[in-house]
Amino acid sequence: MLHDIAPHVLSNAYSPRAPQGEDPALCFDPEGVYLKDGGFPTCADYPAGTSFQYLFDYDGSAVFLADRIPMAAQRQPHRALRSLAQPQAFLGGTALHLWDWYRNTRFCGRCGAPMSHSPRERAMICPTCGNSVYPRISPAVIVLIHNGADRLMLAQGKHFVGGFYSCIAGYLEIGESMEQAVRREALEETGLHLTHLQYFGNQPWPFTDTHMVGFFAQADESEPIRLQREELNDARWFSREELPRGPQSIAIASAMIQTWLDRGANLSQEGTDR
Ligand SMILES: [Zn+2]
Repeated sequence: MLHDIAPHVLSNAYSPRAPQGEDPALCFDPEGVYLKDGGFPTCADYPAGTSFQYLFDYDGSAVFLADRIPMAAQRQPHRALRSLAQPQAFLGGTALHLWDWYRNTRFCGRCGAPMSHSPRERAMICPTCGNSVYPRISPAVIVLIHNGADRLMLAQGKHFVGGFYSCIAGYLEIGESMEQAVRREALEETGLHLTHLQYFGNQPWPFTDTHMVGFFAQADESEPIRLQREELNDARWFSREELPRGPQSIAIASAMIQTWLDRGANLSQEGTDR
């Protein structure tokens, strides 16, 4: 999955410090991310006068955001980060998530004053009213629906680039448990009633400011699928021999489908330590 980058380590302990020439430094704009030779620029690639914002540590080096365009770099769509070799996909996605949060937190949502960086933690502070704002992470659930035997129900979302099939997913509503969200999303999008929910694992999905929590669940294959057309192009049952093209390997959905192929629907060997 995206965050499985051992033996490398991304540390989110907030320890800002001065940039050094070889430290990675990313530059984003609404249209894309600037890459150099297919990888991340370093602080030395930026023109004089660039301001750097500390993001996180990677294998003991600090990683920064830059407010200027790096020299001799090419802009790629944000989506290109997902196709980088690991650990760059995870580092780039995490940097994108933080860039998006910083650009949306320039002013206080309570009183409208310009926000300041907290010197102690990853937070933005309003010097006028004291409002503290922490990085926004939106929890979402994703569910692999099986029939208790040898078939999976997979769906093709409207926004799935390239038309692959994957699991049903959606954001938590306020006041809802994850299990309730799983059942609601499946019912809304496919009309299926789920039973036998089992926790699978979870992963950060920074490209959409999301944290994905995965479940397996069972549905009755004889129940009619009623597609939510605003969300899905298609949803249907597949045998393990006829599975369509699935999601990228960095996605938790890919790990869920592979686990089902390897072990069936019984996750008891797996436990929940993922
Ligand atoms: Zn304020």
